[in-house]
Amino acid sequence: MDYFHRVDGDLFCEDLPVADLAARFGTPLYVYSRRTFVEHYEKLDRAFADVPHAICYSVKANGNLGVLRTLASLGCGADVVSGGELHRALLAGIPPERIVYSGVGKTGAELAAAVDAGIRAVNVENVEELRVLSEIATGMGRVQPCALRVNPDVDPHTHEYLTTGRSENKFGIPLAEVGAAAGLAATLPAVPLVGLDFHIGSQILSHVPYQAALRQAREVVEDLRRRGFEIRHLDIGGGLAVRYDHERPMTADEFHDGIIDLVRDLSLALILEPGRFIIGPAGVLVAEVLFVKEAGGKRFVILDAGMNDLIRPALYDAVHRIEPVRRADGDAAPADVVGPVCESGDFLGRDRALPAVRRGDLVAVMTAGAYGAAMSSNYNQRPRAAEVLVYGADATIVRRRETYEDLVRLES
Ligand SMILES: *Cc1c(COP(=O)(O)O)cnc(C)c1O
Repeated sequence: MDYFHRVDGDLFCEDLPVADLAARFGTPLYVYSRRTFVEHYEKLDRAFADVPHAICYSVKANGNLGVLRTLASLGCGADVVSGGELHRALLAGIPPERIVYSGVGKTGAELAAAVDAGIRAVNVENVEELRVLSEIATGMGRVQPCALRVNPDVDPHTHEYLTTGRSENKFGIPLAEVGAAAGLAATLPAVPLVGLDFHIGSQILSHVPYQAALRQAREVVEDLRRRGFEIRHLDIGGGLAVRYDHERPMTADEFHDGIIDLVRDLSLALILEPGRFIIGPAGVLVAEVLFVKEAGGKRFVILDAGMNDLIRPALYDAVHRIEPVRRADGDAAPADVVGPVCESGDFLGRDRALPAVRRGDLVAVMTAGAYGAAMSSNYNQRPRAAEVLVYGADATIVRRRETYEDLVRLES
């Protein structure tokens, strides 16, 4: 579900023609639909209304302050994975008691910032981190609640790079070592163990891998409680899939119905860390066609947006639908849709059905709200795209286009 739709064949974002946005703000341009991500947040929130829960939006999917401020205003929390994301979340007005902090490699300075802010929980990923966090909190005369991130060793059936909860991945504490980590936590009063956490991967289509992880997590929760720990929350991570092409991801309600029986009787608060599910369908990347070239029996559509703007196709072989922005009546024919970056891996779509387009036409790369702008770079000294937030008939620049001056500003 999203608010990108066609009126007489022309692509609209909510009440605005995307072509007008491109004319006003230039290309490449990220366009976000506020209604879309607000509704996705609300759908998930409603689905879990029958249990105590908190939605901590994964800032790394799209940390734009305009997006974060909107979510903050709805009562949404944040899952951060770095000091920079923590800074952003706080700046956007997300209260520290709604922030959890995950990540395999947190620095001392990052942990101190989390303690200083007074966040809800640090998701601790190894025993040494627990010791370091305890020293830092003790040194600051503070107490920092924490959760152990366990690695439940389940296969989420997604792209290899999007798998995080298998024993061979770098994330989390192996199940067999959770007992020892808890034993250590019991001796460290500055880091009370209040929760258990897992995050098994991303773009997960069904609730079944979550069930497998939850069965493991239940046992750990019960075991920790028997040992006297007051486990108050269970954080089941993010990973809910969106529809990029022909996938059939579970809905928020299906997700809830598929897992809730494994959670309800534990009487604890559930924490969800969705990123892609909330913001993925809410964004498109708009680009202009620079050239159309026939070579080696192929049609190449060369855009002014490339892998530096949206790296998912190059990095994960991800498929994003690519559509002409204006009404196109001709038949679709295969094309490789590529960017201007000097890499053969610089494509946004290969062998894609696209109607005839010409120099100056606009195309939209769909479902680009998550891991799009957030993963963009200045490779080839390309200024990063502008980002626009649409709400009804209003469009607000939430990140201006970078200039050449921006590109050299930090160098001497
Ligand atoms: C990336 C990440 C998420 C969000 O993943 P999505 O697939 O975008 O929902 C949640 N939690 C942690 C720990 C992550 O690293």
